[in-house]
Amino acid sequence: MQKTHGYAAHNNHSPLVPFSFERRDPGANDIQIEILFCGVCHSDVHQVRNEWGNSSYPMVPGHEIIGNVTALGSTVTGFNVGDRVGVGCLVDACRVCEDCADNLEQFCNAATFTYNAPDKISGGSTYGGYSAQVVVDQHFVLHVSDKLDPAAAAPLLCAGITTYSPLKHWKVGKGDKVGIVGLGGLGHMGVKFARAMGAEVVLFTQSAGKSADAIRLGAHEVVISSDSNAMQKHCGSFDFILNTVAAPHNLDSFTELLKRDGTLCLVGVPDTPHPSPAVGNLIFKRRQIAGSLIGGIKETQEMLDFCAEHSIVSDIEIIPIQQINQAYERMVNSDVKYRFVIDLATLNADDV
Ligand code: NAP
Ligand code: ZN
Ligand code: ZN
Repeated sequence: MQKTHGYAAHNNHSPLVPFSFERRDPGANDIQIEILFCGVCHSDVHQVRNEWGNSSYPMVPGHEIIGNVTALGSTVTGFNVGDRVGVGCLVDACRVCEDCADNLEQFCNAATFTYNAPDKISGGSTYGGYSAQVVVDQHFVLHVSDKLDPAAAAPLLCAGITTYSPLKHWKVGKGDKVGIVGLGGLGHMGVKFARAMGAEVVLFTQSAGKSADAIRLGAHEVVISSDSNAMQKHCGSFDFILNTVAAPHNLDSFTELLKRDGTLCLVGVPDTPHPSPAVGNLIFKRRQIAGSLIGGIKETQEMLDFCAEHSIVSDIEIIPIQQINQAYERMVNSDVKYRFVIDLATLNADDV
């Protein structure tokens, strides 16, 4: 084992503080990564505050990791020391079940998440990217093009794949009218991807002040979701709506905007359920409410390559790690433009 350091939550109500802990030495299949940047996902806030009821402490959050390879195990192929790499929400899976065989490791019952999960390899808990370095099995390490700004690429590892995957699964493309609900970390990536895939893109927001940004990011139109007249104009017209909102809300105002056979896909994970949807909205037009979870490793690599080809990265605010607690407050107030990214060069071993 080797000593390292980062920032951790010790319970569901205190600020994150400097923390010293151990990681395994790289095994034969492992890659050791010096972490340069780590994005701040709303899931980090949900888990630090135990809003999903599954938190264990101490918790080092962070699953939007970008770094450089510093060491390789003896059986690692396709990576070299110095390579720019990424790690997302997954660091292990069983590799033999039907989901793993289909390259959908995110659905594997034995998947190991990057933090706040039992670590089957070294025991204890997994610790995430708010830290100096990480050791990860080669199968779960992604290649990141040098063409992409490393800080702005970090959010692709979660916000990017979580929006890219459902847009691809529901075959969004030219001729489709697509809605994105919520302009936060996930939502702004959803706007960029849906636009790059050729769709007509409408952004739904509760924040009128984000309208100009939404257009700059690629939306063709912005609708303030509390304006029922503006919402009604779009009734029955959408092929697909991706809902990224992190809080419970009325879904009916979005299901009625779908065409026959249209899909409302939920990716936001509120701490309490949404009010029950009106069944009439669904059955009369065979509309569907669906969900989606990040994406598999193969698709995450495909997404990163798509981003390099189309020059897509996240719009970010870089913060020193000492500002992480203020960043959480701003994020829960929908005040992030549009992803916080921690610069790990600001991490100081002497603070622990
Ligand atoms: P975020 O940056 O905080 O963005 C969420 C956006 O939702 C806000 O910016 C806001 O946009 C809107 N919003 C927030 N509260 C709202 C409310 N009460 N009513 C209506 N709209 C509201 O969060 P994120 O990082 O994008 O994550 C969004 C959600 O996705 C979280 O629940 C997170 O845990 C979840 N998530 C799921 C997956 C998955 O695999 N399914 C992966 C990552 C994250 P406007 O100001 O534009 O309205
Ligand atoms: Zn995330
Ligand atoms: Zn599996």
